[in-house]
Amino acid sequence: MPNKVDILGVNVDSLTMQEAVEQVEKFIEAGTPVLIATANAEMLMRATYDEELKEILNGAAMVTPDGAGTVWAAHHLGFAMPERVAGYDLAQNLMAEASQRGQKVFFFGSAPGVAEKAKAKAEQLYPGIEICGVRNGYFKEADEPAIIEEIKAAKPDILLAALGVPKQEKWLWKYKDELGVPVSIGVGGTLDVMAGVMKRAPRWMQKAKLEWLFRGMLQPKRAGRLMALPKFVLKVHASKR
Ligand code: UDP
Repeated sequence: MPNKVDILGVNVDSLTMQEAVEQVEKFIEAGTPVLIATANAEMLMRATYDEELKEILNGAAMVTPDGAGTVWAAHHLGFAMPERVAGYDLAQNLMAEASQRGQKVFFFGSAPGVAEKAKAKAEQLYPGIEICGVRNGYFKEADEPAIIEEIKAAKPDILLAALGVPKQEKWLWKYKDELGVPVSIGVGGTLDVMAGVMKRAPRWMQKAKLEWLFRGMLQPKRAGRLMALPKFVLKVHASKR
């Protein structure tokens, strides 16, 4: 595995998108269930007060630098971090691989109807891909055994879970061994974006490292979450000294 970089107590992988994809393919071949998380500034901030999340992230097989904030933090702390490996982009690259390699993917999460739309989109983008099951992310604890059975029966190689942070990480961590899926990844709003329910920032904003600003503007009721970024910057800076 490439280097791990400690950002506010969470070990984040310093790797390129290509290395991340290659590593995931190795996990699929090995077959032992692993969790992959994609850490943006908000997730890393949360891990500073959510001990359970922090332990899960440090137990994950891979934590990719999702977001300009995470890459900045690594650099500010004096570590190498080649590029951003966003959850959405990682999921797209893995689906492209899956369509070539005959691997099966399960979509779990988002509002009713969204995963179905995302599946149609995936089939259009990656001809031949097998999305072996979909299930929305709104459920009660009593529904969990049925959801677990559904996922197990579908036998995916990759489980993409879009339940939001930290629900997706906690759920996957709790059930990954029971599910027996080689690779589970928390992918946040990925299914929403694929289904066209939510927009991703335009390329120029992504390049200008402003995707976080776009998100805040698009979801004004979430504007408070924007504060996570300046708080993160201050905390990382303080941790350096
Ligand atoms: N979501 C879900 N179940 C829940 C809460 C959220 O399936 O109980 C879905 C939501 O519909 C969205 C995704 O999780 O598709 C990401 O949600 P959010 O934007 O809150 O997450 P974050 O930005 O923290 O990843």
